[in-house]
Amino acid sequence: MRPPTRYRVILRNPHAHLFEVSCTVVDPDLKGQGFRLPTWIPGSYLIREFARHFVRVRAEARGTVVPIVKEAKDRWRAAPCAGPLCVIADVYAFDFSVRTAYLDALRGYFNGPSLFLCPDGRADAPCELELVAPDIAPYRNWRIATTMPRAEAAPWGFGTYRADNYDALIDHPVEMADFVSTSFEAGGARHDVTITGKVEVDLDRLSTDLAHICQWQADLFGNEPNSRAPFDRYLFQVAATGDGYGGLEHRTSTSLCCKRDELPAPGAPGLSADYRRFLGLASHEYFHAWNAKRIKPAAFVPYDLTQENYTRQLWAFEGITSYYDDLALVRSGVIDPKSYLELVAQNITTVLRGPGRKVQSLADSSFDAWIKFYRRDENSPNAVVSYYVKGALVALALDLTLRTARSSLDDLMRLLWKRYGETSIGVPENGIRDAAIELAGTHLNDFFARYVDGTEDAPLEALFAGFGVAYRLRPAEGQSDRGGKRGRNANGDEPPVAWLGASLAGGDEPVLPHVFSGGPAEQAGLAAGDSIVAMDGVRMSVPAIEKLVRRRRPGESVAVHAFRRDELITTELTLAPAPDDTCWLALADTIDEATRARRMAWLGREASGPQASATT
Ligand code: ZN
Repeated sequence: MRPPTRYRVILRNPHAHLFEVSCTVVDPDLKGQGFRLPTWIPGSYLIREFARHFVRVRAEARGTVVPIVKEAKDRWRAAPCAGPLCVIADVYAFDFSVRTAYLDALRGYFNGPSLFLCPDGRADAPCELELVAPDIAPYRNWRIATTMPRAEAAPWGFGTYRADNYDALIDHPVEMADFVSTSFEAGGARHDVTITGKVEVDLDRLSTDLAHICQWQADLFGNEPNSRAPFDRYLFQVAATGDGYGGLEHRTSTSLCCKRDELPAPGAPGLSADYRRFLGLASHEYFHAWNAKRIKPAAFVPYDLTQENYTRQLWAFEGITSYYDDLALVRSGVIDPKSYLELVAQNITTVLRGPGRKVQSLADSSFDAWIKFYRRDENSPNAVVSYYVKGALVALALDLTLRTARSSLDDLMRLLWKRYGETSIGVPENGIRDAAIELAGTHLNDFFARYVDGTEDAPLEALFAGFGVAYRLRPAEGQSDRGGKRGRNANGDEPPVAWLGASLAGGDEPVLPHVFSGGPAEQAGLAAGDSIVAMDGVRMSVPAIEKLVRRRRPGESVAVHAFRRDELITTELTLAPAPDDTCWLALADTIDEATRARRMAWLGREASGPQASATT
């Protein structure tokens, strides 16, 4: 066996946000040892150039300085020397997201790809990691949360950890802080939850709800009650702040960032929409332990962390996961079917409001994630479709389609798990379509051609009818209307609503973040980034614009004064009828027994169950 590569992370200067990270190779390459840093992190499809945060790099062997040169943006080479060779880097860490690294006197956190050099030719060597903190307050009270196996470190302690190889080393992010924690059993595995940040949280409630969701997911793939998860230990690493949202999946853990209001407060009644959002995020990342971390596209086996890894199937790894994240909440009994349908209707609304869905297919959105979905700009709503949100709707449509053919998406996931997850074989580019066709027949070729490779909307209205769900559309009632609710004008007896064709932001100094293709703002020559100064000669704020548009009827004109950069533009904007882009779903009461049975099999329970729905 190769000697282990030894890594050490020292909290060198938390106030300057600097880790000192070293990588030691016992028997370096005689021709000069090369080192490389990943340019991206699996699960987040953007070249992030982690090396840009390497502030200073030096090398030494046996107490002597060894020259080290940079060969490329992400590569270094040390001069030939006798080992052990140690490369030491000061790494700036001040990204609070789940994707990179962070250090101050309140918290330390890192993902391996942003800190750990991989010595050339040694990706398969075992790794040791030593975590070192100053023995002073506040670091003395910090604990370590990671699922990286402990070597000599005490439970939750600083000290040494180990990984089988480089790939494993960088898939166990490390949280270091004075966090609160709780644990629960599910799927035969111990699950820990750590929460960093100033929070008041009902940990018992959180554990109970997460345990239901996790066990349900293990049972889905295991196909029987009380199935085992494919790991012995799992960790939810949560960082809670005033504002934040995000998650990243790993093989036996996930890093989550949330608003502290999304965590359940002690004694809080019901299940708030905020808490439901947090549970959906946790459920999403947990589902990835099967779908993305173990069932993976062939393009990711192995990951090439030096460049983009292209696949047209991200819609399935993210979209199917996005479908099951909320579905797991209702199927496990944590939310009721009405609350679930509200979430689905909000997703439908999000997709319907993006003209980009008519331009880009899910397969193309997957392929171009690196330069489009992860690099959104003012034109993205017109040019890009989200493989998460539309992907979830196509997964839903596929589930309902398979169910009418006496199968289900559950069956498809179990087939993919047996074929690709348990075997660690990558899913070939058409592997998911082919598996679906095996289950339900070649008519599904048409489904994939239209909704995955093509840009058609999934036929949800027709599919829902077979499951006792009524699909309804109405115009938006303002910027904060995300859909999911019936709305004031559900019966259509109010006068038609007018529409500007642009989104608004900026409060008292309104700007247009997005101008939608073919809408009134675009036709009037307004552009994304324009600041609206006045309409019909009166100074405007965002609420004032909303009020003005509400009072007018479609077809009426408004004089608009706007600044583009520093130049004044004057134009006449003709309001259009607001599109029916806001969805709400209702359980149909008068349905036959066969429809009721299908609905029950899909949602896992009788749709008029006793659970309380989300409060808002
Ligand atoms: Zn995801």
